[in-house]
Amino acid sequence: MPSRFQPRLVNGPFEDPGLFISFPFERRAMLFDLGDLSRLPPRDLLKISHVFVTHTHMDHFIGFDQLLRCVLGRQKDLCLYGPTGFIDNVEGKLAGYSWDLVDRFTCQLGLHLTEVHADRRLHRSYHCGDGFAATSDKVAQPFDGRLHTEPGLHVEAAILQHSIPCLGFALAERFHVNILKTGLEDLGLTPGPWIARFKAALYAEVHPQTEFNIERGPRGSERTFALGRLTQKIARITPGQKIAYVTDVGDTAATREAVVALAHDADQLFIEAAFLDRDRERAAATHHLTACQAGKLAALARARRFTLFHFSPRYEGREAELLQEARAAYFRACACMDRDPTQKLEN
Ligand SMILES: [Zn+2]
Ligand SMILES: [Zn+2]
Repeated sequence: MPSRFQPRLVNGPFEDPGLFISFPFERRAMLFDLGDLSRLPPRDLLKISHVFVTHTHMDHFIGFDQLLRCVLGRQKDLCLYGPTGFIDNVEGKLAGYSWDLVDRFTCQLGLHLTEVHADRRLHRSYHCGDGFAATSDKVAQPFDGRLHTEPGLHVEAAILQHSIPCLGFALAERFHVNILKTGLEDLGLTPGPWIARFKAALYAEVHPQTEFNIERGPRGSERTFALGRLTQKIARITPGQKIAYVTDVGDTAATREAVVALAHDADQLFIEAAFLDRDRERAAATHHLTACQAGKLAALARARRFTLFHFSPRYEGREAELLQEARAAYFRACACMDRDPTQKLEN
């Protein structure tokens, strides 16, 4: 069955971090981290609706300008999330340019920032037509781990510890709606834009007795069904997909606990492996993970598969050692947990 989210790393494992998550049936995408985005074509950049930044070290944030430049003259709202200090960091970037020509744009870009603190999140918005002057003071709301919620999905964040606070993210689908081809055929229906409307109705928990109209297709006129009956015939509901993303963290007890909770049961965990375990003192000093620690965390979180990235340049040409070390640690940890390791390793 097709997945709702299709994640892919923007760059190679020795290059800047960034995870592009496309929603192939919805012409939209999310981005975890904002490293160099040169490899993303404008058609992909324009799909991005939400950007989640772990921290603002340059390799995770330098792509902000590339993204802004691409969307500048568009009618679009872009939501960006980051750790403590994020609003100042973005305002600093915006203050670095002159915006006297933006009144030529007929479309208006809106930027909506959220900054995460342990007990609250701060919001502030900006519009291109105002030269990105803030539209109001920062607005505070409580923070309970959820950063963004839609009827069918949410994004969670955990505050992890690098040399500075650093966020980890998990994107979770509430449940997955599989459309049954045989069910469509039985009812003489053809897929169309109504499928998205149908799924949205399920996520919105519309009453099963509600009439659901399917627009005229090539096979005939408009059809009307009770939503519940239609669901029984054409849909199978399965657990939702979960993608987790963790990078630039030290291997402390607090971090391990937070990562395991955040990535618990993930279908795919993207996790940094900056160093080999023989260099673990260097990893600890720079607040990064070793491949061994990454593999163990993936097992403890019961992630079904994991993908390593953010390798230190010192291992250029030695990716296999990093992968092997992580895989061995994963299998060892799985064995300790008395569980069949079924995970697949990418890269
Ligand atoms: Zn960093
Ligand atoms: Zn980094």
